[in-house]
Amino acid sequence: MTPMSAPPPSTSSATPDDEETASGLRKVIHIDMDAFFASVEQRDNPALRGRPVAVGGSSARGVVAAASYEARVFGVRSAMPSVRAARLCPELIFCPPRFEVYKAVSQQIRAIFLHFTPHVEPLSLDEAYLDVTDDLRGIGSATRIAELIRARIKADTGLTASAGVSYNKFLAKLASDQNKPDGLCVIRPGEGAAFVAALPVSRFHGVGPRGAEKMAALGIATGADLVQRDLAFLRVHFGSQADYLYRAARGIDLRRVRANRPRKSVGGERTFERDIGSGPALREMLERIITLVWERIERSGAKGRTVTLKLKDTDFRTITRARSFPAAVPDEAAFAAAARALLGGVLPLQQPVRLMGLTLSALEGEGGAPLAPAAAEPGQASLPF
Ligand SMILES: [Mg+2]
Repeated sequence: MTPMSAPPPSTSSATPDDEETASGLRKVIHIDMDAFFASVEQRDNPALRGRPVAVGGSSARGVVAAASYEARVFGVRSAMPSVRAARLCPELIFCPPRFEVYKAVSQQIRAIFLHFTPHVEPLSLDEAYLDVTDDLRGIGSATRIAELIRARIKADTGLTASAGVSYNKFLAKLASDQNKPDGLCVIRPGEGAAFVAALPVSRFHGVGPRGAEKMAALGIATGADLVQRDLAFLRVHFGSQADYLYRAARGIDLRRVRANRPRKSVGGERTFERDIGSGPALREMLERIITLVWERIERSGAKGRTVTLKLKDTDFRTITRARSFPAAVPDEAAFAAAARALLGGVLPLQQPVRLMGLTLSALEGEGGAPLAPAAAEPGQASLPF
């Protein structure tokens, strides 16, 4: 046997990375910053405090990336076209996004998480799951840890976070949403099924607006409705999501908190209300998708080298065209230019299309490896807990 130059790192503590949990019982915290981008803008500009604020461009094809709670009162929501948001709330103040600032705050809060556990799974710049079953500080109480984290975030960043504490990821995420903003909610073992029964299915993570519509058509409005349906029924209607939904309806979730989850791509697609065949109409649609997807790319912090255009025609045939660059796509202009060139290459089309999407892949940097290893060392002087 060839001598190894370095032994593999030992895995003495439980590593909740690979398989599902055997019992499904862990101590999981979901932390979610409140109206994150908008709160950062209000923190840094006192004139914006108490006012309805939307982060995003106000132009015709702008999209709201985040809305302050004052703006939400008017129905303004993230991912909404800015034009519609301005109509709902004429007083709305638009702020251009400052992703570098948001990323810096995101690293601050991540350092706080890593003080308590190495098992941190970021979902985006402002959201993460933490497995604190065996916390680094020997605190033992997930609720106590969640309170400490919220207090520390407030002290270090001046911003509020909401926390959900439970025995799996699905419930922890539901819980963090329960008492927003600046809230804490704990769902203890034995309480999950009853908590889920009372909820509309639209609140379940992974059930988007489309999924909720589909469920409504099947007579499923709440967790209590979902729990009545057996696994065979769910498999027919929801395919690969069936097992997750079946368990979720019972407050069960076997997914582990996965630190350093490798992300393969960031993208988005749109299904059109009407099939589109003309070049100008497709180019116009592409511009909207560029804005939408680039916003997601910025939000995730991902950097990638490959841009892929996907089209699905009226016969459900998929056309993909990709272009790879030697280095990460640096900005929206470069991303947009690549997307336009890819579309230009397939025009004119023989058949109208019903769907268009863009993705950025071959990722590197923050999107793929979001943890700063140096900050993971316990007992750092910068974090005197
Ligand atoms: Mg948030």
